Amino acid sequence: MDGEKVTIAGWVQNIRVLGSIVFLKVRDKEGVSQVTITKDNPNFSMVKDITPESVVAVTGVVRKSEKAQNGWELIPEEIKVLSKAEVPLPLDISGKIESEFETRLNARFMDLRNPRVAAVFAIRDCVTTAIRNYAESKGFIEVHTPKIVGAGAEGGALLFPVDYFGKKAFLSQSPQLYKQMIMATGFDKVYEIAPYFRAEKSDTSRHVAEFIMLDVEMAFIESQEDVMKFLEEGIKRVFEHVKKHREEELSILGIELEVPKLPFPRITYSEAVEKLGLKQGQEIGTEEEKKLGKIIEEEKGTGLYFITLFPEEEKPFYIMEAGDGLSYSFDLELGGEEIASGGQREHRYDELVKRIKKKGLKPENFAFYLNAFKYGMPPHGGFGLGVDRLVQKMLGLPNIREVVLHPRDLKRVLP
Ligand code: ATP
Ligand code: MG
Repeated sequence: MDGEKVTIAGWVQNIRVLGSIVFLKVRDKEGVSQVTITKDNPNFSMVKDITPESVVAVTGVVRKSEKAQNGWELIPEEIKVLSKAEVPLPLDISGKIESEFETRLNARFMDLRNPRVAAVFAIRDCVTTAIRNYAESKGFIEVHTPKIVGAGAEGGALLFPVDYFGKKAFLSQSPQLYKQMIMATGFDKVYEIAPYFRAEKSDTSRHVAEFIMLDVEMAFIESQEDVMKFLEEGIKRVFEHVKKHREEELSILGIELEVPKLPFPRITYSEAVEKLGLKQGQEIGTEEEKKLGKIIEEEKGTGLYFITLFPEEEKPFYIMEAGDGLSYSFDLELGGEEIASGGQREHRYDELVKRIKKKGLKPENFAFYLNAFKYGMPPHGGFGLGVDRLVQKMLGLPNIREVVLHPRDLKRVLP
């Protein structure tokens, strides 16, 4: 483009005044360009007043330059300041001066001007694109279940109440009941990527009050193994897609992404408990889960594995029992933390009612849901996968909030 006239627009990354020459670095989403202004240029006097991070549009002629960082410079005819940035800036986007996470979240619009932060969100985009491509390629259709609901999926503890025209309703904590009801419609493979809301009272690095879940439900399965196969292949595809399409972002983050091999190891809950030296029936807590992650990593060389056949007591009413107090359920683990839960569902009406009662819940409260099981409901199963947590664990980030634009938690509802 040497000699061509162009306009570039973006943020002023840096201004360097060296006596009779000024270098203006202008950043847009493609990268950083150098604008060179010599003393004889009519813009020379105004350019010194431009503040860092102001938005400018520069029209000028492209010139080859060995000294400029990317091999060319722009000799401006006109420099327009489209928006002047105040001084001082709320944070240093170069990352040289580290800002408190709270400061970064308060000025997230500016935090994302840091290439390391932007890289995370570009990768996140690639993850959801890969999920959609994969699901569609396997014949799944995307559905949209309600986010304002009259009843929770698993009891009321973690629900956010909503004043719904004078009646009590809730923000949805999961599409579980709705995606299962679709299995009675003839649409036998569905998925949804959507926000869910849980009033998590604990302040952890892997929970937020609003998170994005990938939900999948599939009918006419023979066992939960069908669901696990779909899930593990999907995870592999996501890793492949990110590795292929976000090479630059991964290198900015210094991450060498390893595409996992299929099949993922499967260990039963009972084996897991034994490895951890716990009693059968005991719940695997957060710390034990981490420990298990390390054990399996050593034994099998991967952080991605399934734990299957949990005690039915630990799993919700809609999970199918497997006998001996167990259930056809699984969790998918990545780096010592759960990223997905799923299993085969109880599709037999009478058995389902029994399970609801067994959990101390009232079948009347689930009448709308149970109805769908009375008139022909095929065997089915599925899972819910935390998209935020997948991205967090995939990139090895210490806190889920790093991958959420505007995290919602106990302390934060703004911006
Ligand atoms: P956990 O035990 O980690 O709180 P859970 O078993 O309660 O998770 P599920 O109901 O199984 O969660 O939800 C499916 C997936 O959704 C989880 O595996 C996780 O990846 C994600 N998830 C659940 N709750 C949250 C949350 N508060 N913030 C972020 N992700 C979440
Ligand atoms: Mg779970």
